[in-house]
Amino acid sequence: MSEKTRLYIVPTPIGNLEDLTFRALRILKEADAILAEDTRITTRLLKHYGIEKKLIPHHQFNEHKTIETIVDRLKNGEIFALVSDAGTPAISDPGFLLVRACIREDLKVECLPGPTAFVPALVNSGIAADHFIFEGFLPHKKGRQTRLINLSNEERTLIFYESPHRLIKFLVQLAEHFGEERYACVCRELTKMYEETARGTLKELIEHFTKKPVKGEIVIVVRGKE
Ligand code: SAM
Repeated sequence: MSEKTRLYIVPTPIGNLEDLTFRALRILKEADAILAEDTRITTRLLKHYGIEKKLIPHHQFNEHKTIETIVDRLKNGEIFALVSDAGTPAISDPGFLLVRACIREDLKVECLPGPTAFVPALVNSGIAADHFIFEGFLPHKKGRQTRLINLSNEERTLIFYESPHRLIKFLVQLAEHFGEERYACVCRELTKMYEETARGTLKELIEHFTKKPVKGEIVIVVRGKE
């Protein structure tokens, strides 16, 4: 294993730009280049902190093709920071493939601790946080039903990501598979101006979110089967 870290995985804010650690800031300043999911979003963050740095696009549509070149450059001594649009790379975001490639090549990878949406959602929910499973986004079509059936007997707390326009449909599916009295929590727009935490049974949450159009980013935390 090479001594020096070659690739830093750098979590970035999920809304509130103050949620960037001092170390993340330093690594972004010191890296030779930043691999960014969407260079426009990262440029906004860097501008906020007065950082000028070369950005290399690294997203789900090019990662398979560019990993080899990136790994070669890291082997040749460059140091890169990987960021996604929000939160921690590799958590429902690109990153896993590159980390795995670096490990295979004996290149040292370091993930900084920092923002990610599911942790504040889990803690805010008040639902048991000692054992949980993170499901991220369920598949849209193929495999979704099977996944929900398999999860219906899960005793650990469950965490999901979902887009706002699918929220109600998803809550209805959860109610169908888990029972409408199952307790859950929907965290919307964490760390942002219109942050909302709604807690209650799935039935109550469906009623609540049916009242007006759902906007913003969402994490759903569901109590495990008792
Ligand atoms: N890498 C990110 C992380 O560490 O959480 C997740 C990226 S994933 C593409 C985007 C999803 O994360 C959103 O659809 C939403 O489910 C969740 N998310 C991100 N920011 C959020 C926020 N401020 N409030 C609630 N959910 C958020």
